[in-house]
Parts: sequence; structure tokens; C-alpha cells
Amino acid sequence: MRERLKKYIFLIFIISIISYGISEYYSRKIEGEVEVYKQRNEIVYNTYRVLYHMTAIKEVLYTIQYGMFQSDYVIKEHLKELDEVIENLSREISYVFYTGKDDDLFRSYAHHVEVIANLSPKIIEKVNFILTHQEENIKMEALKEAIEGGEGLEIFFYEIDDFLDTENSRITESIPLLILKARRIRNLTGILFFISVIITAYVMFYSCKGFRGMSAFIKSIKGGDYSCKIDGNNEACVKLVASGFNTVLGKIKEGEKESESMTITDPLTGVYNRRYFDLRIHEEINRCVRYSTIFSISMIDIDHFKQINDTFGHQVGDAVLKEVVMLIKQNIRDTDIVARYGGEEFMVIYPCTPRSGVLTQVERLRTIIEAHKFADLEGQVTVSIGAADSAGKSSPEQIIQEADSSLYAAKRNGRNRCVIVGITA
Ligand code: GH3
Ligand code: MG
Ligand code: MG
Repeated sequence: MRERLKKYIFLIFIISIISYGISEYYSRKIEGEVEVYKQRNEIVYNTYRVLYHMTAIKEVLYTIQYGMFQSDYVIKEHLKELDEVIENLSREISYVFYTGKDDDLFRSYAHHVEVIANLSPKIIEKVNFILTHQEENIKMEALKEAIEGGEGLEIFFYEIDDFLDTENSRITESIPLLILKARRIRNLTGILFFISVIITAYVMFYSCKGFRGMSAFIKSIKGGDYSCKIDGNNEACVKLVASGFNTVLGKIKEGEKESESMTITDPLTGVYNRRYFDLRIHEEINRCVRYSTIFSISMIDIDHFKQINDTFGHQVGDAVLKEVVMLIKQNIRDTDIVARYGGEEFMVIYPCTPRSGVLTQVERLRTIIEAHKFADLEGQVTVSIGAADSAGKSSPEQIIQEADSSLYAAKRNGRNRCVIVGITA
């Protein structure tokens, strides 16, 4: 959970940086556009100023023509302003060209300004000449040229004037629209940021739902139960983990089976189990056939054991099984083998012993068990025993079969007794 939270915070951090980058990029772009429009506005304003000063100078020309001389000062002031404005214009025009925001409209516009910038010094030069020259003829000639040039400019001014009006309204309309556009982009970036935070949260937390289903499974494995299996629901990553887990579990189960097949003792009573008994009886019969010897077995079954369980409970039943085993072990030789054959059935192998030799032994065991005082148990526990030897037999099944029939006979004859074919206890 902590790891996931860390990853989540990290992702949000990355998303914030990306969102900030996007909004910064677009807002700067729009800011740049607004700046271009401002420069265009400046150009319009300064062009108006050029026109104003040019018109003023033209007025001076007429006053000179009608013999009313203006003072130097007025002319010089207009000329000074004109210079400054033309310089501003060229800077503003360069800016727009530099940012690549020029269009056809702007180009014709820049061309007009260029024409003004070229014509105006010529007229200004003529004006200066008229004002300073003494000879009347030459002065009047220059004045005529200046007025003709000025008239050309006048037509041009009207044309520009119209053009500037259109341009001015276009710019004043565009700037608020651009500002609105920038605001919309910022809002959109905000919304995108919000959506990506939600999507990331979904991916980080909700998509791990598949793994959550695994907690029960992992708990049971921790508890030592390898029999469960995980269902690798729909998500590819969970499927992969599930198949990995299931393979490992398969291996564990195989290993368990293998080790189980290798155990030879009964976990409850500690004596040999049925598997070992089967192996051992085969060995015994082979040895007897080869060396012409003999061995016996006895099958010991607790009488009415089900009743003990039912009356005193399974745990008492288990304790009785352990005590019976203890009594059996105390009454056999070290070389004899005792095994748990079934729930409350035990087998003893007596190597090199004929069935006549077994009789005393099983009879003694029966009486000892009958007399034994079992813990937590009221009343006695008795056993029925059937025994058989290997004489005349060539397979374990034949001996077991005979012992089993004898045990059955003992049960049928009233229990708590020993039966051996041919010998009656
Ligand atoms: P019978 O005298 O005919 O042998 O009757 P029984 O009740 O002894 O024989 P039955 O085969 O009907 O029942 C055997 C019982 O042994 C049933 C089973 O629950 C119980 N049992 C088997 N293994 C164990 C065990 O490990 N512990 C306990 N407590 N009981 C067991
Ligand atoms: Mg039984
Ligand atoms: Mg029994």
C-alpha cells in the first residue's frame, strides 16, 4: 500500500510537470500573439502620427505659397517628431517580421510605411531648401515640386487612412478574443490535469483489485494448505502471477506426495504403517521360501471401538489406540514387527515363529488388554485376534487372508478372543 502510494504521488508529480509545461507552452504562445497585436497597434498609432506631421508640413507648404512665412521652429518640431515616429515604426515592423507573424495585410501595410519613410525626407529636404534659399525663382520652383510631391502623398494618405481604420478595429477586436482563448486553454489544461489524476488513481488502486482476491489464497498457503488454487481473473498480470503460483504449488504437492510415499510410520501411534507392513511381509515370505523357514502374523482388532469413539469422543479413542499399541509393544520381542493396518487394526509379524508359538503370546496380550485400566475410560477395552503362519503359503495375501478369517471367526464367536486355524485358544 505504501509503495503504491509512493508511486501514485510520483505519477501525480510527473502529471503536474507535464500539465504545467503544456499550459506554459500555450500561454506563452498566446502571449506572443498578443504582443504581436500590440506591436501592430503601435504601428497603426505611429502611422497616424506620421500622417499628422506630414499633413502639418503640407500646410506649411501652402502658407509659403501664399506668401505667409512660418517660423523655422514649427517646421523643425514637426521634422523632429517625424524622425522619431518613423524610427519607432521601423522597429515595430521588424518585430512583427521577426516573429514570423506577417501576413499579406501586414506586408502591404509595411509597404505603405516604407513609402512614407522614403517620400517624407525628400519633401522635408525641399521644405528646408525653400525656407533657407534667397533666390525667389528657385525657391518657387522647389515649392512647386514639394507641393506636387505632397499632393501625391495626400492621395496616398487617404488610402492609408482607410486601411488603418480597418486594421485598428481588427486589432482591437482580436486582443480580447486572444485573451479569452488563453483563458480557455488554461481551463482545459486544468481539466486535463484533473482527469489524468483520476485515471492514475484508477490505474494505481482499482486495477490492483485482481490481486486483492489473492489475499485469502496467500493466507491459506501461509497456513500450510497447498491444496488451494488461484483463479487468475481477467487481468494479464494477475494471470501471470496466478499461473506462477499454481506451478509452484503443483511442485510442492508433488514433493509432499513423494515424501509421504517414503514414510513408513503411522503418525498417531508411532508404529510402522500399512505400506511398511506390505513391504515387510513380502520380504518375509521370500526369505521363508528361500531358506525354508516359517513366520507368523497376528491381526489385532479392538472390539466395539466405534462405541468408544461415540461415547467418549475421538480424542479418547486416539488415546486408547496409543495405549493398545504400547501394550502390544510391551508383549512382543524386539525382533517382532508391529504395524497399524487400518483404523483400529494392528498387525504383528513374528519372524521365525510357527503359529503354535504365537498362541501364548496373543492370548497373553488379549488378557493384559482386557485387564488394563485405560485413562479417561470407564469399563474395559478388549481385542479380538486372528493369527496365521506361512506354512504351505506362497504369497502374503494367503497369510493375511487366513489371519483375517480367523479374526472374523473370533468376532463372530463373541469377541475378546484369539483364533488360529487348527488351534483353539
Ligand atoms: P468391531 O468390534 O466389529 O471391530 O467393531 P468396531 O466398532 O471396532 O469396528 P468398526 O470397523 O465398525 O469401527 C472402527 C472405528 O474405528 C470407526 C472409526 O471411526 C474408528 N477409527 C478409525 N481410525 C481411528 C483413529 O485414528 N482414531 C480414532 N479415535 N478412531 C478411529
Ligand atoms: Mg476393524
Ligand atoms: Mg474393531
